[in-house]
Amino acid sequence: MHTDAIVVGAGFAGLRTAQRLVAAGRSVTVLEARDRVGGRICPGEIAGRSIDLGGMWLGPTQQRLDQLTSEIGMQRYPTWLEGECSIEFRGRFGRAPGEDFDRILGTPNRLRLLKLNWELERLCKNLPVTAPWDHPKADELDAQTVASWTAQRTSSPDVQHLMNLVCQAVFCTEARELSMLYFAFYCKAAGGLLVLLAGGPGGAQNFLFDGGLHQAAQHLADDLAGHIELDAPVVAVEQTEERVSVITAGGETHTASRLVLAIPPPLAREITWAPGLSQDRARLLARQTMGSTIKGWLAYETPFWRETQHNAFVMTDTSAFSPAFDATPPGSSIGLIAGFFESVEGRSVAESSPQERRDIAISTLVRHLGARAAHPIDYVDKDWTAEQWSRGCYGATMPPGVLTTVGHLMRTPFGLVHWAGTETATEWSGYVEGALESGDRAAREVLARLRER
Ligand code: FAD
Repeated sequence: MHTDAIVVGAGFAGLRTAQRLVAAGRSVTVLEARDRVGGRICPGEIAGRSIDLGGMWLGPTQQRLDQLTSEIGMQRYPTWLEGECSIEFRGRFGRAPGEDFDRILGTPNRLRLLKLNWELERLCKNLPVTAPWDHPKADELDAQTVASWTAQRTSSPDVQHLMNLVCQAVFCTEARELSMLYFAFYCKAAGGLLVLLAGGPGGAQNFLFDGGLHQAAQHLADDLAGHIELDAPVVAVEQTEERVSVITAGGETHTASRLVLAIPPPLAREITWAPGLSQDRARLLARQTMGSTIKGWLAYETPFWRETQHNAFVMTDTSAFSPAFDATPPGSSIGLIAGFFESVEGRSVAESSPQERRDIAISTLVRHLGARAAHPIDYVDKDWTAEQWSRGCYGATMPPGVLTTVGHLMRTPFGLVHWAGTETATEWSGYVEGALESGDRAAREVLARLRER
């Protein structure tokens, strides 16, 4: 069957692309490898409640997701931060109001951290999010990791260690693995590092959705009924000057005038391409690495921590289960905590059983919230490192030397093939908002080309 466009991937990027193309009257087929839509947004259940096993938060300035979820009528609630959080950091243990985990550093190191953030913001001023490689110091920044950039500016082991925890929490990777230019781009695309870290007003972790964010993906899919084919992994793409064909693992062939690839970059590298990808393009796709995370949920009979003015925001460097957050919906009798096993720790506990990870999560929470944390009524987790069609999460990140050498190809079409996916976004790259932005852009590109015919 020949359509105007084929969209590969039914995450938010692919669904949004298809929504825009269908609204413009174009014929579209969406091919999705999994047996469900949503990609890195994924439904789950704990103690009979619907939850998100993938992404779940809405942050400020995420206008597309804000609008989409409002139109659907989804109810949201703020992340619970009343009371104190609990921090364990380089042998120190403390509590702090709200989410002010950096208080554990003490005043001199907090000032050093502020100075570091000020330097980051200064360099972000001259950073064009649409072309980070054009930053006046792009080559220098892209030759460094976040760890080496930090070490050049402060010899404080506390600040260096905290920057590593930041990279683990935001990127699910280590500071020594991340290009500094990429880090600065990512921060700027979201409005700043402090925005990325926060759960209070103005922070990326500000709002959760009653019943889960995955409902929005299903809503988009319902509107595209008849256009989406599930269980259809694309294994090969062939193109001429006039048409593009894709072949699925089941041996089906679909042809179209344009193709939008809305899948994580490393997975695009695994498709068989004819003609083949240029070496630059192949390097761009292959050298982006997915972060590593396992998301774990615990349910308790009540949100008992609130009785002692604890808000269950836990950050620790002695356990693999960190950070953790109170994700209890308002009015719920049971208490819910969501937390993460991230980066090297995430990969290491991926070798363990869910029961073993449950034990790690419980012992962490007992240490921080007290003995009542020993008795959850349910536990569930999802290992994103083992997901064949994600290969890790939250997203793909870049080591040094990628953005300035091949980064410019990120959104450049390859013949009839266009690129979407949160990794190609210029606003909130790595987030659902970025996925939606990329879908809007890819649809505009395709519509413009189809009109030219
Ligand atoms: P994806 O969601 O990865 O969609 C790609 C789709 O392509 C998938 O459905 C996949 O199955 C399919 N696919 C892959 N290969 C093929 C193939 N060969 N053929 C056909 N189909 C294929 N973001 C937020 O905004 N807020 C959060 O709170 C948040 N927290 C997160 C927590 C976790 C644990 C995770 C995993 C992610 C989180 N994120 C969060 C990130 C967010 O989920 C992603 O940025 C976003 O969902 C990416 O959407 P996408 O459409 O670009 O890619």
